[in-house]
Amino acid sequence: KSVVAVVGRPNVGKSTIFNRLVGERISIVEDVPGITRDRIYAQVEWLTTTFNLIDTGGIELSDEPLLVQMREQAEVAMNEADVIIFIVNGRDGITAADEEVAKILYKSNKPVVLAVNKVDNPEMRENIYEFYSLGFGEPYPISGTHSLGLGDLLDAVVQHFPELDQTPDDDDTIYFSLIGRPNVGKSSLVNALLNQERVIVSDIAGTTRDAVDTPFNKDDRDFVIIDTAGMRKRGKIYETTEKYSILRALKAIERSDVVLTLIDAETGIIEQDKKIAGYAHDAGKAVVIVVNKWDTVESNEKAMKEFEEKIRAHFLFLDYAPIVFLSALTRKRTHTLIPKVLEASENHAKRVQTNVLNDVIMDALAMNPTPTIKGQRLKILYATQVSVKPPSFVVFVNDPELLHFSYERFLENRIREAFGFEGTPIKIFARKR
Ligand code: GDP
Repeated sequence: KSVVAVVGRPNVGKSTIFNRLVGERISIVEDVPGITRDRIYAQVEWLTTTFNLIDTGGIELSDEPLLVQMREQAEVAMNEADVIIFIVNGRDGITAADEEVAKILYKSNKPVVLAVNKVDNPEMRENIYEFYSLGFGEPYPISGTHSLGLGDLLDAVVQHFPELDQTPDDDDTIYFSLIGRPNVGKSSLVNALLNQERVIVSDIAGTTRDAVDTPFNKDDRDFVIIDTAGMRKRGKIYETTEKYSILRALKAIERSDVVLTLIDAETGIIEQDKKIAGYAHDAGKAVVIVVNKWDTVESNEKAMKEFEEKIRAHFLFLDYAPIVFLSALTRKRTHTLIPKVLEASENHAKRVQTNVLNDVIMDALAMNPTPTIKGQRLKILYATQVSVKPPSFVVFVNDPELLHFSYERFLENRIREAFGFEGTPIKIFARKR
């Protein structure tokens, strides 16, 4: 596990930050000898990683004067940590003691993330700029007492972790799969896409037990099409049964960024379509709805509108998914599909800025005040994006019970409007502050 150390002169708020980062899920890993405070080494969970955090301020190494102690603490950080969080006080500006700590840290080849504490409100953000001169790059404004900016700070910290701790999913190849009932045209559409102009299919197609992965390149983007349908066609008889194809579809969905859910225009929407589409939604994947065999329908604007309304009525849970009408057989409009896949995947991986997010939330609150339930008014204090794929947000509230579905839906819609999340589900979690 990676180790992160918090350093800084006394009273900049190291312990407060430490406690905030460790939060409720504190688990004391071990006590380091020679320390007086007990909570100086703890485990922190952030997104998909867990790391150990050291509060060097809690390490009283000797009876030396403060300045010497600070140096010693910074030295501990440099020896022990993979990443150092250097905390300064946004209200005081740069002090001589900050410069002392900085001087020691310059000698380190460890990454240093600079946090400016006590930035308790947006107006105080102006204060952070002078800290660029410390030479550790972008200063991150935070407020330990108000729990502000910690998400962005942690994101910056985690980025510096040695490769081993990174999530494997950091290449930007877009994986997608096609799902839909038998004969909806999955194989035909795979073939149509791969034979399309300006798609460069690489020679190596990987075959797993469950699918054929075909990498291709279009408009300088790398895609992999995960094809379970083709597999079924050539597979053994017992593997062609419905049970296996669902299992295969689920595995393909799991590996996908974007799932194309196919509907047959000729036969219309059936109950099974809904069930299959539900898998993609539940897995939190980006979804594009594809209406295939559009050549069999007398194609005009009106027919398209009507079909779209039917889809929307049947797939209420997929209201974020764009709909593409095409024909795998005649290849009409098949070229419009990949751009939609790209857009959905970009939205699925989109990260929004915390300050902009909070502006959006504040505007939403002004527009539609929070409800009062049983005499208790919901208070929303702060929101932050905690992960991507799909974009997930935590809103800190006075009482999570008070965030009802309808208000959550309202917030979701405001976030969607503000940032454009077409094609991807987004998740909102309420946490007690
Ligand atoms: P899969 O089971 O989902 O892989 O479906 P297939 O790709 O094997 O297609 C099933 C049948 O539908 C085949 O006879 C295809 O020729 C036909 N089909 C596929 N796409 C279209 C289309 O866009 N229009 C029409 N009219 N037929 C199609």
